[in-house]
This record gives sequence, structure tokens and C-alpha cells, in this order.
Amino acid sequence: MKGFAMLGPNKTGFIEKEDPKVGSRDALVRPLAVAPCTSDIHIVFEDASGPRENMILGHEACGVVVEVGEDVKDFKPGDRVLVPAITPNWSDVYSQAGYATDSDGMLGGWKFSNIKDGVFATRFHVNDADGNLAHLPDEIDPTEACMLSDMIPTGLHASEMAGVTFGDAVAVIGIGPVGLMALRGAVLHGAGRVFAVGSREKTVEVAKKYGATNIIDYHNGRISDQILEATGGQGVDKVLIAGGNAKDTFEEAVRMLKPGGSIGNVNYLNGHDDVAFNAGDWGVGMGHKTIHGGLMPGGRLRMEKLAALVVNGRIDPSLMITHRFEGFEKIPDAIELMHHKPADLIKPVVICNDID
Ligand code: NDP
Ligand code: ZN
Repeated sequence: MKGFAMLGPNKTGFIEKEDPKVGSRDALVRPLAVAPCTSDIHIVFEDASGPRENMILGHEACGVVVEVGEDVKDFKPGDRVLVPAITPNWSDVYSQAGYATDSDGMLGGWKFSNIKDGVFATRFHVNDADGNLAHLPDEIDPTEACMLSDMIPTGLHASEMAGVTFGDAVAVIGIGPVGLMALRGAVLHGAGRVFAVGSREKTVEVAKKYGATNIIDYHNGRISDQILEATGGQGVDKVLIAGGNAKDTFEEAVRMLKPGGSIGNVNYLNGHDDVAFNAGDWGVGMGHKTIHGGLMPGGRLRMEKLAALVVNGRIDPSLMITHRFEGFEKIPDAIELMHHKPADLIKPVVICNDID
């Protein structure tokens, strides 16, 4: 098989490898469409979680099953499938404890482009196929289906972790594709006022379509000052973090959170940084301000549930897709876009119509 890989720090390129071996519960899949993620950029160019060599990138795809192991019951060659970015080991005790993302070690549910080759390949391996794949509904276009791998589940997880409820005032820090889905998750959970924190015109326009009521540009002074002023000094019930860096965003989030409020972070922080915030803003340690941070839950059930949101028009993924490339060979162009993030970019997708 051929794949687009991280060759080493700051270096990418196409490589050839043997097709992965399919265990009794696994599947081999060819991609219909793939999308690069900001996390790919953190890994390759920002040394966010340590060096890797010749590892095929990518964890956002939908595809067609090519081969299954003898114990796979619900999928067969030729089936079109949704593929979650996170594919837990459902037999691990952490999965039984409710933390499947941490099966096989902390964040061990994140296998593609982390601990094994990813989906930017003419063939990719899916562990525990019955537990992790979902059938791709006919109503969903493969380009849009890629948003179900990571952007939709991750963004929605921020609002789940924070526990957004009816009428909440919510601030969403960062409105790239992940933040936009965090925002949409807050709206679907019944938020009242929703502040979207970002600056690019294109993302602001889409944030309003997903239900933002107020826009805050972080270049115009401290985020917390702007939100405290807009709320008469009250602050917000929930903060969802999907952008910015470890040092500044938590300080802002804790400062503008009401006592009893909570934060849902899905931003991928750089492992070399410290998270910092002022103890006074945290009620000198007693303000009942809770911080959650989590990897998106993976697995089949969640894919099926989130697909229902798309099929029934609750989430329109097409609003996020700003760039479409035709052909597997265009993956480097899509990565390049993600690396340099032009102002009109939200999310690129590569349609792999040249693979069989
Ligand atoms: P983008 O780069 O597309 O968006 C980042 C957003 O953050 C933009 O809206 C940007 O504003 C805003 N921003 C940048 N700097 C600041 C700042 N100092 N203060 C406030 N806002 C700021 O990223 P994505 O949406 O693609 O991804 C977001 C994060 O989620 C990434 O770290 C990614 O790795 C992570 N992630 C986590 C996953 C998980 O499972 N937890 C899964 C997938 C991704 P603007 O550009 O408008 O100026
Ligand atoms: Zn990702």
C-alpha cells in the first residue's frame, strides 16, 4: 500500500508499506474520502507529543471495507463505512470503566496516526471492526461523512463534558472546525447566549449560522474582559475550549466562568507547556469551577448516533468544508493548507476517487 507519512519531525512524504495484517476481529478499509486535522499539524510540525518516523498520517476518513477477519459479524467487503478517529479496544477494563479513549493506556484509544499507521493510505487497518465501524448512511455524502470521524464527535464532546443545559450562557474559545462543532453542540444542548471567540471572517460567518449569538475577537483585548463586560460582570456558565494555547486560554476561561461553572477542553495542548490560571479567579481553590479535558469518545454507537444528527438535519457538515481536492495524490496540498491556514480555510477534504 501507499501512504502519506510523517517521515520525521517537520518532514512528510509518500511511502510504500506492506498491507496491514487483518486479525480475526479487524477490518481492512480503502478510503473514499479523507481530511487532515490540526492534530496532524501539531504532531508533524510542533513536536506536540514526541517524534515519530515513517508513520502514515491521518485519522479522518470514510471508506469501503476490503477485507474482514473471520469473527467480524456486521461488516463485509464492499460495505461503505464511517470510521471514527478514535477506535478503542472495547475489551480493555478502561472501556468497562467508561473511559474507552484510555483503553490500552492513556489516550490509547487514539490509534490512527498515533500508535499505528493512519488513514492517509490506500489501505488502512481498523481494530475491533464490529465495535468501531458504522455503516455509512446513503443520505450522507462521503465528503461530509469525513466530518463524522473527528470534528463532529470532538466538538460535541466539549459541550458534553462541560454539561451545557437549557439557557446556559456559553463561551466557545476557538471557532475552527472543532470549535464550530463545540458551538453547535452547545446549541443542541439548549444553550441560551453563545459567545464565539475567533477572528477570521469566514469562521465568524459560519459560527453565526451554527447559532452563535455574540462574536468576540480575541485581538480586541482580553477575552474575559470582553465577556464579563457583555454579561454585566456575571460571566458564563460554561466555557468550551477549542483553540488558543495552554497558557492564555485557561486563564481567560477560569476568570470568566461563574462559580459552579465548568470548562470542557478539547484543544490539543503542547506537551511541553504548563496550564496556568490565577488561583483567585478559581475562588482561591474553592470556587466550584470544574475543568474537564477529553479525547473524543470513539466507537460504533456514537458514530451511529452522530450520523443521525446529520441525516436529520441537526448538523450540516457542509458549512465547514471550504476546500475540496480530487485524488489521493492531493493529500500533501490539503496538509499544506492546514499547516498555513489561509483566512478562508475551515476544513479541506480529499476525495479519493482514484483508489480501488
Ligand atoms: P483551528 O486552528 O482551525 O482553529 C483554532 C481557533 O482558535 C481559531 O478560531 C482561532 O481564531 C482561535 N484562536 C487562535 N489563537 C487564539 C487565542 N490566542 N485565543 C483565542 N482563540 C484563538 O483548529 P481546529 O478547530 O482544527 O482544532 C482545534 C483544536 O482541537 C486543535 O488543537 C486540535 O488539535 C484539537 N483536536 C482535538 C481533538 C480531541 O479529540 N480532543 C480531536 C481533533 C482536534 P482565528 O483563526 O479566527 O483567529
Ligand atoms: Zn483530529
